[in-house]
Amino acid sequence: MNNRILPKIVNEVQAVTEYLSQRFCDGVKTDLAAICQDENISLIYAEYRNHFDGMIVWDTPRFYIHINTEKGNLPDSNRGRFSLGHELGHYFLESHRAGIRSGIIPPHASVNCLVQDDKLELEADYFAANLLMPRERLRRFTGGRKFSLDIIKEISAKFGVSLTAAVIRFAEVGTHEIMVVFSQDNVVKWSYRSENFPKVVNKFKKGGPLPPTSVAGESFLKRNARYTGVEPVDFEDWFIYNDWKPQWQLYEQCCYSDIYNYVISIVWFK
Ligand SMILES: [Zn+2]
Repeated sequence: MNNRILPKIVNEVQAVTEYLSQRFCDGVKTDLAAICQDENISLIYAEYRNHFDGMIVWDTPRFYIHINTEKGNLPDSNRGRFSLGHELGHYFLESHRAGIRSGIIPPHASVNCLVQDDKLELEADYFAANLLMPRERLRRFTGGRKFSLDIIKEISAKFGVSLTAAVIRFAEVGTHEIMVVFSQDNVVKWSYRSENFPKVVNKFKKGGPLPPTSVAGESFLKRNARYTGVEPVDFEDWFIYNDWKPQWQLYEQCCYSDIYNYVISIVWFK
């Protein structure tokens, strides 16, 4: 995700979250309630219908963070932790905080959503991911292992984050290069590659269809098909061949979310 965020903000997020996650560490998990207490933020869990996941409001002399339990944001649920981490991003990032305090940024209703295009929301999501899964702690935990859905499930359980948040973070800082492609109704919403993923050209574009011979593409074309195992695929199922390709086998594994019709493809060489 951080390829869509300004380097200045990336640096700010990394510095602040490194400090906070070390100071407020409860074993592997970051203790978010303790951060709120230390900062004198009023944290309120309540039912706010379907309006938002989290919201931060300045009401002199302090900030209030409202978390919507009606959308599954309980204090210890993965969703609740990510929503609170996101709101803390609005609180700790200087430009967000100043905007909210002065009223330039109106009281801000955040929605937990995988297809984020709003700049402030992307920055707050990136803050949450860094706070909940600090780079070095995550790398120690994965211990140099290659990608597998089991590792993602372990990260999810240990760090208290969703599978989606875990897989995106693994792509960013994990110990194996992967590409994550997020699609909905056969439209690619976004994709992200680990920094050292081979420099090959994608056979798809954001906003366009999935490659039809990819596992995700086939599962869409054959309605109701669900392929959840690790599938060997051809290089040209996902990439355009230009004189060179890695000599390793390419694999793909899909996760499905029926609620929103999301498909997340994870693609890797080994
Ligand atoms: Zn937000």
